[in-house]
Amino acid sequence: MKHYTHEELELYRNGKMSVLGRIACSSHLQKCAKCSKIMEELQEDDKLIAHLRSSIQLYRDLSEIEPAKTS
Ligand SMILES: [Zn+2]
Repeated sequence: MKHYTHEELELYRNGKMSVLGRIACSSHLQKCAKCSKIMEELQEDDKLIAHLRSSIQLYRDLSEIEPAKTS
C-alpha cells in the first residue's frame, strides 16, 4: 500500500489536492492507521497555529481600538 507523505496530507487538509486525489486520500485515511496518525499530528499543529493567530488577532483588535485614529 502506498502511504501519503506529510506534504501530501497537508495539501489534502488545505483542500489543495485534486478532487480525485481527495477521494483517494480520504478513503486511504479511513483504512490506514499510519496516515491517520500523521493527519492527527497535523491537526495538533493546526490548533497551535490557530491559537497563535487568535493571539495576533487579539493584539490587532486592541491596536485598532486605540484613539489615535480620528478619521
Ligand atoms: Zn497510509
